[in-house]
Amino acid sequence: MSDEREPRFNAMTVRPIEGPQMQRVLQETEACLQRARGIFGLQKSVVPVFFDLRGRAAGQYRVSRGKPRIRYNPWIFARYFTDSIANTVPHEVAHYVTDRLYGLRNVRPHGAEWQQVMRLLGAEPRATARYDLSGIPVRRQRRFDYRCGCSAHSISSSRHNRILRGEAVYLCRRCHGPLVYAGAAGQP
Ligand SMILES: [Zn+2]
Ligand SMILES: [Zn+2]
Repeated sequence: MSDEREPRFNAMTVRPIEGPQMQRVLQETEACLQRARGIFGLQKSVVPVFFDLRGRAAGQYRVSRGKPRIRYNPWIFARYFTDSIANTVPHEVAHYVTDRLYGLRNVRPHGAEWQQVMRLLGAEPRATARYDLSGIPVRRQRRFDYRCGCSAHSISSSRHNRILRGEAVYLCRRCHGPLVYAGAAGQP
């Protein structure tokens, strides 16, 4: 896609949030988690928060080896602090709640269940925000080789992952055949 850019640092480079603002984000996350536990009757459990997310996403909820974690993008938080507190924090907490209530595999990431949780948390259930990312380091997405009936295609890693998770099938515009992963040849 044409909006892909190499990481760049220029005069407008955004500095990531640091100590005091991170503390504030941690407090807001914990407060939101506490509210969620009350509303949904969830048992208290630790959800570690990291500020290690880069790229276009402001936040991410993930479970790795059975352990949940919330990751925030300290550059996007720096530029859109109020908005991130108001939206990204409940957004990720809502993913956690949805995971607890339904299991991540049983619902669409921003489906009806997640939206309902967002509303009950008092947040607007929008899936993504359109941020101006100039000055924020953005990683170039890896490309993956796919084939259809007629030619070769190159697919972004987010689409590739969507296909692997069974969330999407992409069709060739010319032959209308499904794109099939051509394998890890040449890819680490
Ligand atoms: Zn999300
Ligand atoms: Zn084709």
